[in-house]
Amino acid sequence: MAAIHDIKCTNPDCGHESYDALVIPDRLPFCLCGSAMEIRWDISQRVAPVTIPSTVHPREQAVVWHNERTGSVAYPPMNNVPMPERYSANGYERKELNTLAKLDKFCKDKNVTNEKTTYNSGNGV
Ligand SMILES: [Zn+2]
Repeated sequence: MAAIHDIKCTNPDCGHESYDALVIPDRLPFCLCGSAMEIRWDISQRVAPVTIPSTVHPREQAVVWHNERTGSVAYPPMNNVPMPERYSANGYERKELNTLAKLDKFCKDKNVTNEKTTYNSGNGV
């Protein structure tokens, strides 16, 4: 029965590896170098390539300056801009919307739209 395995060439001079190959375990394919391939049981515990928690990359993160007392929000031109004195002196605090849930809630509460999450970024998909 076919299964998905990580396989590698048994020739140490070749070392070719193939990840997530669909193989029949007792009829493994041969490497392009002509040597037999074997299942890599040593990395069977490998984790999925994406191990980043479901947060937004800091570069992509939405940031607002929020005044807890008045409920006012100011939108910095970029997420890495230091807050001007006039905002911090009036009680504004930096608020990072670092999950999609926080961003969605903020947009709904303030009746605004996040361009990045709402519209196509121009990648043609
Ligand atoms: Zn090989």
